[in-house]
Formats: sequence, C-alpha cells, structure tokens
Amino acid sequence: MSMAPRILIIGQGLAGTALAWRLWERGVPFVIADRDEPLTCSKVAAGLITPITGMRLTVSWRYEMFYREALRFYRDCGRRLKQRFFFPRGYVRLLKDDKELAKWEKRRRDPDMPPFLHRNAPQLDADVIHDPQNGFQQRHAAWLDTTAFLQASRCFFEPLDAWIKSNVQPEDVQDDADGVTWNDRRFSHVIWAQGWSAAKHPLFDWMPFQSALGTILTVKAGLCGEKRIVNRGCWLLPRNDGTLRAGSTYEWTFDDPNTPSPGQVRNLESALRSLIKAPAEIITAQTAVRPIIKGRQALVGTHPAHPRVAFMNGLGSKGSLRAPWLAHHLVGHLLDGAKMEAAFDLQENTV
Ligand SMILES: Cc1cc2nc3c(=O)[nH]c(=O)nc-3n(C[C@H](O)[C@H](O)[C@H](O)COP(=O)(O)OP(=O)(O)OC[C@H]3O[C@@H](n4cnc5c(N)ncnc54)[C@H](O)[C@@H]3O)c2cc1C
Repeated sequence: MSMAPRILIIGQGLAGTALAWRLWERGVPFVIADRDEPLTCSKVAAGLITPITGMRLTVSWRYEMFYREALRFYRDCGRRLKQRFFFPRGYVRLLKDDKELAKWEKRRRDPDMPPFLHRNAPQLDADVIHDPQNGFQQRHAAWLDTTAFLQASRCFFEPLDAWIKSNVQPEDVQDDADGVTWNDRRFSHVIWAQGWSAAKHPLFDWMPFQSALGTILTVKAGLCGEKRIVNRGCWLLPRNDGTLRAGSTYEWTFDDPNTPSPGQVRNLESALRSLIKAPAEIITAQTAVRPIIKGRQALVGTHPAHPRVAFMNGLGSKGSLRAPWLAHHLVGHLLDGAKMEAAFDLQENTV
C-alpha cells in the first residue's frame, strides 16, 4: 500500500514557500528543510510583478493567468499571517530614446495590451525625475515584500514542526517505489526547490541551467511622495519604509554568488542617477543568483526515473509572479494525479 501524502520540501525560497502553503491549504503534512542562508535569491529580490517587461515591450507570457493566482494567493497568505506583503502599484515605463519610442508606438497596438495600459499619461514630477516625458503607465503591476513574506511564513510553519534548518545532501535522501527516507523519517515525496544550487544535484545536473547573478541597491532619496515604480535604464521601487530599491543587473559568469563585479554596481548607480534628480545615498548593494533554465519559463514535475522525487525550479526573474500558480499545479499533480502542462513539465523537457 502506498503511504498517505507527507511531503519533504528542500528549500524555503519563493518556490518552497508557495509549495508549503499549497500543501497547508490541502491539509497535507509537510516539512521544509532550508539552509537558512542570510542572502538568497528570494531574500534579495525586489519582488516586482510587471505585465509589460523587457526591451521588447511585450506583455509577459500568460501574465493574466499567473497574476490572478498570485493576487489571490498573497492576499490569502496575508490574511492568515495578519500581515500585508503584496502591494499593487502603478508602474511607469519611460522610453529611453527615439528608437524605443518608435517600438512602443507599434507595440501599444498589440491586441493583448489594453487591459494593462493606464488611460492617463504618467505625469511624473520634473523636479524629481530627469526627462519625465515619453512614457506610459501600466496597470496590474505590484510588488511583493519577499523578505517579510518568507520570514512570516517560516514563523508560522516552525512551531508546527514543519520547518527545519538543514543543509540537505542529495545522497541523504533515499527514494524507493513507495516513498522517500531522510533522517530516518519517511515521506511520500520529496520536492527539491533549491534554486540555482540544483545545477549541482546529481538527479538534475543534466538540465541546462544558465543562472544569472543579480544586484540590487537599497537607497535613501527624497521622491516627494512618488509611490509608483519608475523604470528607465533601471527600475526604482519606493518602499513603505521610506527607502527605495533600484536594480537590477545580470551577470552570466561569476565566482561568488553574493559578490557583484564592481563595474556592474557602478553602471547601476549611474543608471539610477540619470533617472532621479534628488541626491541618492546608497545604503547597501545586495547580490544573489536567479535560477534560470535555458529556454524554459520554469520547470516543475517528477523526475523521469524517480517518481517520488519532484522538482520546482527555473523561476528566473519572475518568481513572485509565477510561484503561486506553479506550486498549485505541481501539488495538484502529486496529490490528485492532475495532468501537467507540457510547457512546465520536467518530463516533457528532458534533453
Ligand atoms: C537581484 C535580483 C532581483 C530580482 N528581482 C525580482 C523581481 O523584481 N521580481 C521577481 O519576481 N523576481 C525577482 N528575482 C528573481 C526571484 O527572486 C527568483 O525567481 C526566486 O527568488 C527564485 O526562488 P527559488 O525558491 O526558486 O530559489 P531561492 O530563492 O534560491 O531559494 C532556494 C532555497 O533553497 C535553499 N537550499 C538550497 N540548497 C539547499 C539544500 N541542499 N538544503 C537545504 N536548503 C537548500 C536555499 O538556501 C534557499 O533558501 C530577482 C532575483 C535577483 C537575484
């Protein structure tokens, strides 16, 4: 007889936390084992959730589907934990030159654009922002206070004996046909949600990980009450505690996961100073690695040869947006045998 569901989650980033809440909602017992590192991708992230992104100025893939689920999920978690982490915000994208302006003139006519475009021009304060004209304002954008969300979730799960500090080694987790054993404890499944470190896991090292180092600045600067996220060259997020965050960089080769190259920090600082007029004092620069799987939006599912071993990873720069939907999808698959969507299914994306 197969054992009742009882799940081991390795890693408490945005992926592991979303999985834990999905299991909690279903009343399924679980344990999260996390290394408790001070700087991880999810702890450093800005938590921006943005419909129209990148150089291409297109609507992010399946945005509506992911956003609807994220909105519901974070609000539910906020109610349970009696704390707010999720803040819908206006998002102003300023266009940097004539070429980008011409591109936007075409893109704004795309049929999927209208729900995400604010009717009014952004009207930024020219005393605060350099060259505030030539931009548009997005709707259905938000930011997630990732640090507060992870911390409050941990404080909720730890007294339930559902959170353990541990650096889990792959060889210490043994699976067989009926379940998984770790530390003399028996589970029905293990889900590895360990971010970029999965590239070194012997069951997953065949995946084309192409993770990227990213740096964010925390800044003090007076923005005269501006609360919207503003982007040109870099994005600027005014937070509720009066500080701003500005970011972020991408470095494809790196030695240390928490140390940026000085050139990247200089570039970010100069992008910030060409965006805002107010004097800006840099308080900290934080760096971590985004887990990216080349050519995939994210992957979830069970290992092709180890049906008790599951995986959720490759959230790239969209972990806040996508983790709630993906966790729901994977948990539905593990508990109910729901069919996986091919685009995200680990087994459909083996190379
Ligand atoms: C600079 C920067 C800016 C970003 N900005 C945004 C943004 O604005 N919006 C957005 O949505 N996303 C953003 N991201 C990306 C986002 O943070 C990621 O998509 C997300 O954090 C990935 O979450 P994860 O849980 O998969 O991985 P991680 O956050 O890396 O979590 C993995 C966890 O597993 C633990 N772990 C690993 N191995 C083990 C082991 N063997 N045993 C026990 N524990 C283990 C780690 O300690 C960690 O706690 C940003 C990332 C960076 C670096």
